[in-house]
Amino acid sequence: MTRFILTAVVLSSTVFLGGQTPPADPSPKPAATRPGPMTVGRVSGGLYLVKGGAGANAAFYVGEESVIVVDAKMTEEAARGMLAEIARVTDRPVKFLILTHSDGDHVNGLPGFPGGLTIISSAATKAEMAAAFQEERSAGRRAFLPAETYEARLELIFRVPGGKTAAVTLLELGPAHTGGDTIVVFQEEKAAFIGDLAFVGRDPLIHRSKGGTAAGYVAALKKMIELDGVETYLSGHADPLAKADLRALLSDLEEIIARVKALAAGGKSLEEVKAALLPPPLPDAPPSRWPSFVENAYLELTGKK
Ligand SMILES: [Zn+2]
Repeated sequence: MTRFILTAVVLSSTVFLGGQTPPADPSPKPAATRPGPMTVGRVSGGLYLVKGGAGANAAFYVGEESVIVVDAKMTEEAARGMLAEIARVTDRPVKFLILTHSDGDHVNGLPGFPGGLTIISSAATKAEMAAAFQEERSAGRRAFLPAETYEARLELIFRVPGGKTAAVTLLELGPAHTGGDTIVVFQEEKAAFIGDLAFVGRDPLIHRSKGGTAAGYVAALKKMIELDGVETYLSGHADPLAKADLRALLSDLEEIIARVKALAAGGKSLEEVKAALLPPPLPDAPPSRWPSFVENAYLELTGKK
C-alpha cells in the first residue's frame, strides 16, 4: 500500500498522462512533462526499446528481411524521428506495425509512417481508433487504421538472422487499461512489450469510456506474471520491469481493491472511499483528468455508473 500512496502523491503533481496537455495552465510546465530526447537501447537479440520523444515508449524488432515496430509515438515528428533512429540500427525496411492499444500517445504518430505497412491490432483497438479518428483533426490518421486485426492470440513467425525463425506472439489481455490491450511476446528475447498494462510510479489509468476495467487490469497483470520464459517487461511509461515489479504492483492493486470492497460493503459512498484511500490533492495541483484506480474499482464493484 505504501508504494501506491507515495506514487499517488507524485501523480497528483504530474500532468503528462496519455501524452496530452492539461487544461490552460499559465505556469511553466514542470520539467517532467517535457519529453526527453529520443534514445534507442538494445533489450536483447533483435529487440530494441525506444524512449523519449513525444508519446509513450515504443519498440522495434529487427528480422532477416524486415522490421516490426510496436506502437507509433504521439506525433508525426516523433514517428519520423523513431524511423530515423531505426535506420541507424538497420537498413532493413519497416514492414509491420503492431499497436498495443488506441491511446493517442501510442497511435497519433501514425501519419509519420510510410504507406504500405501491415498494421496490426486487436479488433477492439481498431474499433476504438475508428471512433477516435472520426474527429476532424484526426482525418490524416484514418488511412492508418489497422488492416489486420485479431482476437485473443496471434502468432507471427518471423525470419531472423542465422537462417532461423522466431515467434512474435500477440496476446489480447484487455479489457484492462482500454477495451482491447495487446501485449507482444518475443520468446527468443525472453521479453514482452506490454503497452500500458503496468503503470509504475503513477496511478494505473483505466479508460472506462473505452471499456477498460480495474478488475481487468489486475487480471492482465496476473496473466503477464504467469507467462513462461518472459523475464523483461517493456512498458509504455516506465523503465523495463522484471516479474518482481509486476508482482509488487499486483499486490498493491489487490490490496486497494480489497479495501474498496470492504468500504463499499460497509455502505461508504464514493466520496468517502476516495477520502479514505487517496492522498489529499496538493494545493496547487490541477484536477486529474481521469478518475483514479480507486474510483474505477468502486464503480465496478458497486455497479454504479
Ligand atoms: Zn494508454
